[in-house]
Amino acid sequence: MPLSPVQPHQTKVGWIGTGVMGLPMCRHILAKGYLVTVFNRTKEKALPLVEKGARWADSPMEVAKGSDVVFTMVGFPEDVRQVYFGPSGILKGVRAGMILVDMTTTPPSLAQEIHKAAAELGAYALDAPVSGGDVGAREARLSIMVGGDRDAFEVVRPLLEAMGKSIVYQGGPGAGQHTKLTNQIVIAGTMIGVCEALLYAYKAGLDLATVLESIRGGAAQCWTLDNLAPRILKGNFDPGFFVDHFVKDMGIALEEARRMKLSLPGLSLVHQLYVALQAQGHGQKGTHALILALEHLSAIRRDQ
Ligand code: NAP
Repeated sequence: MPLSPVQPHQTKVGWIGTGVMGLPMCRHILAKGYLVTVFNRTKEKALPLVEKGARWADSPMEVAKGSDVVFTMVGFPEDVRQVYFGPSGILKGVRAGMILVDMTTTPPSLAQEIHKAAAELGAYALDAPVSGGDVGAREARLSIMVGGDRDAFEVVRPLLEAMGKSIVYQGGPGAGQHTKLTNQIVIAGTMIGVCEALLYAYKAGLDLATVLESIRGGAAQCWTLDNLAPRILKGNFDPGFFVDHFVKDMGIALEEARRMKLSLPGLSLVHQLYVALQAQGHGQKGTHALILALEHLSAIRRDQ
């Protein structure tokens, strides 16, 4: 089935999942003039897009029936499975030639399953998870890591460019997800590094804001230090990126590593600390709440 280029005011774009990330990402597509149809489990969260001109549909199947390209940005692998394979899922509404783009972080094997099911219906599928957080989503500065059909990737590139600054094709189905998991392994390391460093500086009696001023400009510079350390100093643990989602990502990465007979002791340690954080009731906080688990270990009660 030949693919046609996307065109503002002509191409019909479906969007499923309008949470912390999906809402601002879809807003950028709408702002470019594409004809958008939305669906979200909780309708209220999609209403800001409806107010800006998006059409509401009652199920993922209805979204697919009315779209040329469908994006999904839901939470967990089971959500993705329901949205694609459920009784009123996307695959029930797919036509040959459509392009499906899952931007949720999920196992590479699930991306491959969706790709296969779409191909059997003559449609194309991409896995296109993102990095850059809530800030990156709002400012259209995401890094988007893409796996799947290369020709379909080239067609949807202008849509991805509306949401991100770094858009890189990584290979066949699942390659985008593998790249995202690689990214999460780095994040696990930087997050524990930043949290432990702040606790060290605190115990040493330093002024944390002044410490940040020095270390943000040197070799320790990183996204976590720039964006999340200031939130920690303010005692603001709102997500951002949910602890529950990060535990999901690290679990997927550890499972993939186990399958590849790869030992990742650093990632395992950080994963365990985050499981403790969930057990302490912090699953819906932002990932920088890791500092709370570490404070607990050393009986630290910082003034905030
Ligand atoms: P979120 O705020 O929980 O948004 C997920 C949205 O998907 C929610 O609005 C949810 O509906 C909806 N949803 C879930 N299951 C659904 C279903 N079966 N049908 C329709 N809608 C459904 O999460 P998020 O922070 O945007 O993250 C989304 C994904 O991106 C996750 O996989 C996460 O790991 C990844 N990610 C997040 C960040 C970040 O910084 N936040 C960065 C990179 C990647 P409800 O409104 O009913 O809950």
